[in-house]
Amino acid sequence: MAKYTGPACKLCRREGEKLFLKGSRCFSPKCSFEKRGFAPGQHGRTRQGRSERESVYGHQLRAKQRARRVYNVLERQFSRYYMMALRTRGMTGFNLLQTLETRLDNVVFRMGLAESRNQARQLVNHGHFKINGRRADIPSMLVKPGDVITVSENSKSTTYFKELADVAEKRPCAVWMDRDLKGLSGRILRLPERAEIDGNIDEQLIVEYYSR
Ligand code: SF4
Repeated sequence: MAKYTGPACKLCRREGEKLFLKGSRCFSPKCSFEKRGFAPGQHGRTRQGRSERESVYGHQLRAKQRARRVYNVLERQFSRYYMMALRTRGMTGFNLLQTLETRLDNVVFRMGLAESRNQARQLVNHGHFKINGRRADIPSMLVKPGDVITVSENSKSTTYFKELADVAEKRPCAVWMDRDLKGLSGRILRLPERAEIDGNIDEQLIVEYYSR
């Protein structure tokens, strides 16, 4: 699956807010947004403060782009998720967020097994995880309640996973899942509620964007 390979910090600057795409670096003085909190490009500085004057379409587009960037999903995949959400019973915007939350790379991140979604995606790609005992190396795989995510036996002996339990202790784990850091595994207890999905995302604007 294709992915965005450009600079992550540029995305924060474009959205005009910190999206926390790089783990611990985002909380350090090295964060680019702290130093250059304006949009990238030649006219970046002059774009500052334009958001209030943005059209309705502009607001809808920004909401969609922000969600895409937080979850590191390209446009085609994102619109596919929207179509899935539309066909599912219930509120489309919430269904969309739930689908994004249940991506394997997001779940690994939410369990605290990676410091960012980007890192989680790389770990999944490298084949370090199993779902219900079967190798799972596709970051866009969707998990469901009852699924058990484990680090594969071969990977447990790598330095990263040997040291993970101590590091991950300080990271939060989403309430809709359970984790066992010593055993390097976790279980999906249920699907997340809206209040449990953080990130500054306005799903209503995304629905309006796709309903134009
Ligand atoms: Fe965004 Fe993190 Fe880069 Fe700061 S360090 S600009 S929060 S990705």
